[in-house]
Amino acid sequence: MKIVEERISQHFQLYTNFSMNSPIRLYVRFVFVHDGMNGIISSDKRRRVVNALAKAFSSRFVFNHIDLNDQGLYCPDYFRLLKDSEEERYIKAKTQRDPNVYLHIYSADTFDGAKYRNWSSFPWGLEDDPVMDGVVVDYRNIENEESYHWIIHEVGHWFGLVHTFENGCNPPGDYVDDTEAHSDEIRGCPPEGIHNACPEEKRAPINNYMNYTDCKDTFTLGQIERIFRVAKVYRPKLLEPEVCIPPCPPPM
Ligand SMILES: [Zn+2]
Repeated sequence: MKIVEERISQHFQLYTNFSMNSPIRLYVRFVFVHDGMNGIISSDKRRRVVNALAKAFSSRFVFNHIDLNDQGLYCPDYFRLLKDSEEERYIKAKTQRDPNVYLHIYSADTFDGAKYRNWSSFPWGLEDDPVMDGVVVDYRNIENEESYHWIIHEVGHWFGLVHTFENGCNPPGDYVDDTEAHSDEIRGCPPEGIHNACPEEKRAPINNYMNYTDCKDTFTLGQIERIFRVAKVYRPKLLEPEVCIPPCPPPM
């Protein structure tokens, strides 16, 4: 992580004219694994997720929805998909397009009963292991609009954000200046307050998408800036004016 951050900040000492004037553009592609009964995600639901992403990440982003995969991936043996499994690698290798311009959102029955329900690769993993790039979510999180904040959280990771409680109260925290530092995750949806905020803070970031609460609805400007900085280094194609990998989306 130290090398990753050094590379980001070094790069930015060279880019004194950093701006967010041209948007981050990407193509969102869903790969929904299903068993014929569960896991089938309608095109309407996929579109709703893309709309929620566009709303959450602000007008500095253009999320183009590529909807080529209408049948999903009928694969009963792999419908139960666990993090870092051979099955995960197989599904990704079979279905992936250029991960430099596509955000893949894979869905399946991912709940292992304990820890992982959704996960994402980080931009700095793209070079070494491109196949594993993308976000994986439990299909129930796409079916239920109230769970979209978890999908947005994972896409935040995909862009290079870390948790608001990263490093606890120790600098450099989450590498973003305008998020309140706090010592550990916060669950549920408690009222605004100090909670586990670090001594120099007035509140804990209950509403931040990179926390673990159920009422996440905010990215700070600092987080959006970090996404642009990380993209410059690790996902530069997202900053190109008009990337169009055939087949291009129909004109809006
Ligand atoms: Zn997370």
